[in-house]
Amino acid sequence: MPPDNRPLGDQHAIVIGGGLAGLLCARALSRHFQRVTVLDRDHLPSGPQARAGAPQGHHVHVLIARGWRIMSELFPELSAALDEAGAPHLDWLADVAWHTPFGPAPRNSSPLRSRACTRGLLEYTVRRLLLADPRVHLLDGVEVDGLQSAGDRDKRVTGVIAHRRGRAGAEAPALTPDQLRADLVLDASGRGSKAIDWLTALGYPSPPETLVDAKLGYASRLVRRAPNAPWAGLYVMGRSPHLPRAGVIYPVEGDRWIVTLVGYGGDHPPTDDAGFLAFARGLATPELADALAGAAPLTSIHGYRRTESRVRHFERLRRWPGGLLIVGDAACALNPAYGQGMTVSAIEAELLSQHLRLDRPADQHCRDLQRRLAAAARPAFLTASGDDFRWPTTSGRRPPGQGVMHKLIDRLLRAATRDPALYLRLLEVLQLVRPTSALLDPRVLAKIF
Ligand SMILES: Cc1cc2nc3c(=O)[nH]c(=O)nc-3n(C[C@H](O)[C@H](O)[C@H](O)COP(=O)(O)OP(=O)(O)OC[C@H]3O[C@@H](n4cnc5c(N)ncnc54)[C@H](O)[C@@H]3O)c2cc1C
Repeated sequence: MPPDNRPLGDQHAIVIGGGLAGLLCARALSRHFQRVTVLDRDHLPSGPQARAGAPQGHHVHVLIARGWRIMSELFPELSAALDEAGAPHLDWLADVAWHTPFGPAPRNSSPLRSRACTRGLLEYTVRRLLLADPRVHLLDGVEVDGLQSAGDRDKRVTGVIAHRRGRAGAEAPALTPDQLRADLVLDASGRGSKAIDWLTALGYPSPPETLVDAKLGYASRLVRRAPNAPWAGLYVMGRSPHLPRAGVIYPVEGDRWIVTLVGYGGDHPPTDDAGFLAFARGLATPELADALAGAAPLTSIHGYRRTESRVRHFERLRRWPGGLLIVGDAACALNPAYGQGMTVSAIEAELLSQHLRLDRPADQHCRDLQRRLAAAARPAFLTASGDDFRWPTTSGRRPPGQGVMHKLIDRLLRAATRDPALYLRLLEVLQLVRPTSALLDPRVLAKIF
């Protein structure tokens, strides 16, 4: 294909999927493209509710510090909007009580800050702020079925093939060719993305996949927050290999807690009232179950089991069509227990923004950019999948050296329970504020050994 030399300012980008990855990347694109259209197959709610296309919205969605930093840079009005909706501020050290297998972690004031809310509120607020920009349009109730392309062997994606999903009693206008043609298509359609089918239909091979499955099951419910709890949030970790259960209480808007219980290796939390509480009683400390027993339930209990870490290595394909990028869970879905998925999406949006700022038209550099996106998601994947191999029931190819790594992390965690500075350093790495190499700093190693 001859390169398209029109300035990006004249061009149209389509984002498939209005989840967090799609919304954040749409914001990055809107600073460079004349028009950005977000397509989502769901009829999106006009409030902060969970929805069918993102069923994980019923479960805790912690926003770790790096993700919050990027989101508040992308949307300077986000903090005030979350204040208005009543989303608590969180200091990850001072406000969150963390029960590690080696005892409680220290609680000190720290610079590791974020906001706590339901995923529904975060997504709704980000969507509302994004759509205030007249260059950004949302077409909901529109499902993408494939890609339009031009060219023979080396193709260029020129748009999407899509259809409207009917809503009872409503007549929606037909989609126009102009709405579906684009200079850049970004797939952010989540774990269930059909990008591999769409690429193979264009004559490209399937990319290799890396799959690590800790067989984790989730169950969650919203409850009324107890006013006298000595913490804002509570984490109780499991203890490998014999206690594969963990739980979290996380404060959210409306004076509520979201309580999420998780079980590894098929030991999944039940979704009935008595079973949920009994599972909580089986955690390493009684604190979570005691708080749960005294809190009035506000919703039913939702279960979820699609939690494997799966990387689709699009970056390894030798040929890549111009005009296509794949982001978020569609490219790299993570075991959610480490709370990194939304932050990886934010990191990708930031990368996209930096790349476009260089004024290199994205459609000509998609292969390079797809590789960079994969590299940006890799540290989170390594953390999540590496830790999953503590559990003997985890399936997937175990990288060499995991045993040594687990021993090192255990020593670090044990030392961190007595040393606030070390604990802060560990959380900064887990919250993607510092690279993993920050744990190999000689001063850190001296404290551990
Ligand atoms: C149980 C659970 C708990 C989690 N907890 C956390 C957490 O604590 N912290 C955290 O950071 N992350 C967490 N995550 C991960 C987080 O949900 C995602 O990583 C993050 O939201 C980015 O997802 P996404 O936007 O790529 O995909 P999704 O959020 O799944 O959004 C995909 C969107 O694409 C739409 N779509 C799908 N197919 C099509 C199509 N063909 N045409 C048009 N639209 C389509 C869907 O309707 C949906 O809106 C959790 C995930 C799960 C499963």
